[in-house]
This record gives sequence, C-alpha cells and structure tokens, in this order.
Amino acid sequence: MTDCLFCQIAAGQLPAKIVYRSSDIVGFHDISPQAPTHILVIPIKHIASARELQSGDADLIGRMIFTATQIATDQHLDQGYRLVINTGPQGGQSVDHLHVHILGGRQMHWPPG
Ligand code: 5GP
Ligand code: ZN
Repeated sequence: MTDCLFCQIAAGQLPAKIVYRSSDIVGFHDISPQAPTHILVIPIKHIASARELQSGDADLIGRMIFTATQIATDQHLDQGYRLVINTGPQGGQSVDHLHVHILGGRQMHWPPG
C-alpha cells in the first residue's frame, strides 16, 4: 500500500467526503477548510506536484481545472472562487500529490499569505 495520503483517498482506502469521481480525477472536501467551501481536485495517478507534470499530462491538468470549475458551479459558488495549486516547499505545498484547491464562499484577498 502506498504511503501517499491522496493516493489512499483516491483508492478509497482512506475516508474522504468525495464530491466528484471519474476514471482519472477525484474531488473531495479538504479536512481543514480555509473557506466555507474548500475542495481538492486530484489526479488518481500519483503526480508529486505541478513541477512533475509531463507534456503527456496536459489534457489531464486541463480537465482537472475544468472539473474544478464544474464542481464550483455545483457548489453554487456564483459570486466567484479561487483555484490554487501550491507547488513545492516555498509554494506552501504540504501534501506531495498534485491537487487543485477550490476555495469559495467568502471574499478572497490579494496578495495571499
Ligand atoms: P497543500 O498545503 O499541499 O497545498 O494542501 C494540502 C491540503 O490537504 C491542506 O489544505 C490539508 O488541509 C489537506 N489535507 C491534509 N490531509 C488531509 C486528509 O487526510 N484528508 C483531506 N480531506 N484533506 C487533507
Ligand atoms: Zn499520491
């Protein structure tokens, strides 16, 4: 069994509040929400971060972003939302499996912390 947290969630070996599942993408609620709606969209296959994306993953990452927008619509984030991909240590990434954050339901600020 892999020791990657998000691989385990994708495989159904670790519980999560799943909101979306396809053959290669899963969406689930963040365990520690930073906004009223906080959902993570991940590829089922293990990609450590955006830095590890290969040219062959262009369709996958495109569909992950598109899926995130569809989930945001499903979650009624009509006033807007933020999509975030923290990448690497200085990017604030804490789980080394590529994920797109969907944050919504409150006013977002800029610059981010
Ligand atoms: P990062 O900091 O890598 O951009 O985001 C990782 C996110 O994963 C964090 O927002 C964190 O709360 C979330 N997270 C960490 N462990 C778990 C878990 O076991 N289940 C779920 N649903 N989210 C998790
Ligand atoms: Zn993984």
